[in-house]
Amino acid sequence: MAEEGSSSSAGQKRLLKNDELSNVEFETSEDVEVVPTFDKMGLRESLVRGIYSYGFEKPSAIQQRAIKQIIKNRDIIAQAQSGTGKTATFSIGVLQSINTQNRETQALILSPTRELAVQIQKVILALGDYMNVQCHACIGGTNVGEDIRKLDYGQHIVSGTPGRVFDMIRRRNLRTRSIKMLVLDEADEMLTKGFKEQLYDIYRYLPPGAQVVLLSATLPHEVLEMTAKFMSDPMRILVKRDELTLEGIKQFFVSVEREEWKFDTLCDLYDTLTITQAVLFCNTRRKVDWLAEKLREANFTVVAMHADMEQKERDDIMKQFREGKSRVLISTDVWARGLDVPQVSLVINYDLPNNRELYIHRIGRSGRYGRKGVAINFVKNDDIRILRDIEQYYSTQIDEMPMNVGDLV
Ligand code: ADP
Repeated sequence: MAEEGSSSSAGQKRLLKNDELSNVEFETSEDVEVVPTFDKMGLRESLVRGIYSYGFEKPSAIQQRAIKQIIKNRDIIAQAQSGTGKTATFSIGVLQSINTQNRETQALILSPTRELAVQIQKVILALGDYMNVQCHACIGGTNVGEDIRKLDYGQHIVSGTPGRVFDMIRRRNLRTRSIKMLVLDEADEMLTKGFKEQLYDIYRYLPPGAQVVLLSATLPHEVLEMTAKFMSDPMRILVKRDELTLEGIKQFFVSVEREEWKFDTLCDLYDTLTITQAVLFCNTRRKVDWLAEKLREANFTVVAMHADMEQKERDDIMKQFREGKSRVLISTDVWARGLDVPQVSLVINYDLPNNRELYIHRIGRSGRYGRKGVAINFVKNDDIRILRDIEQYYSTQIDEMPMNVGDLV
């Protein structure tokens, strides 16, 4: 590893100028070339064509830095604010690196939720539209036989969740011998709690020397330290903590003395919620169900999604919400990371999240790719301390919600 420990020990600082999103300052472990256009990245023609057809014109700050390094085969730790194009960063890297003449799986992308794994598969298929690429979403809650059939057919790229992926590897339906690239999206989540063990199980099946690419908007110290175990001399492209919240997302709080008052406050806000689309976060599945039910009883239209639901139902809700057929979604942290519905302009923390990282991810469901967003936090008396801590930690500003909040959405 080039450097241990904190991101502040990283060497070079580069200030990005004229970026359309913001003036992001990256801290990188060594000099990183900034490539200003997709044309200059040395990508295959069919891929460049796919990128432009998808509607991208100019690479974002992280894309300008990380894509070139990924295709050079370097191990990479990349951090960038939510909604600034990390998915396309590794997707383009993966698409450039595979050989489509060879039907074996060459890249494995792991993410923490099924919806995210499917979203990534869709982005890859869209960007790789002119490449004749096979990419399979290998996720739990789906038909195992179908998974086996698709894998046996041959998939250049697999985007999945760890449980089902490991299952398929163990059954030898997902053959790992040609995998030369492992991507961990939402890497800090993947390297904590329940996922870590499963991840090491999978890692052990990969050929030695496989390239590892980690990405997330949040990469706490503990996680960066852990990477030494399975990465070789990784290049780090990191964002300073005080630049992690996006300028485009205005953050507010509403004081409610008691839990019971949150509901009335929410009802008062309903018209604001439906101006575009909104995501409401609760901390438990039960509370999501409870709140959805109570809002419906009060004649408000909402949908709800959490991990206790059948996958089929989760898929239906996602589809409805992506198409804008439902405007207000209530969910748990299954929705906190990675999901990209550009029309979402408002996030409400009905409950404050359980950690600082989740705060960044939740509010980042709005304000995608430089759009405006609003985040509203419901705080009970003792919650205000938690919010002030978040505010200080990220050097950001969370004001009391103004009367005209609807104008800001
Ligand atoms: P992240 O993974 O960093 O949270 P995503 O990769 O989901 O962000 O990208 C957020 C949104 O920005 C998506 O809707 C994506 O299509 C769009 N996007 C990404 N890169 C570009 C680009 N270079 N030009 C225009 N839009 C982009």
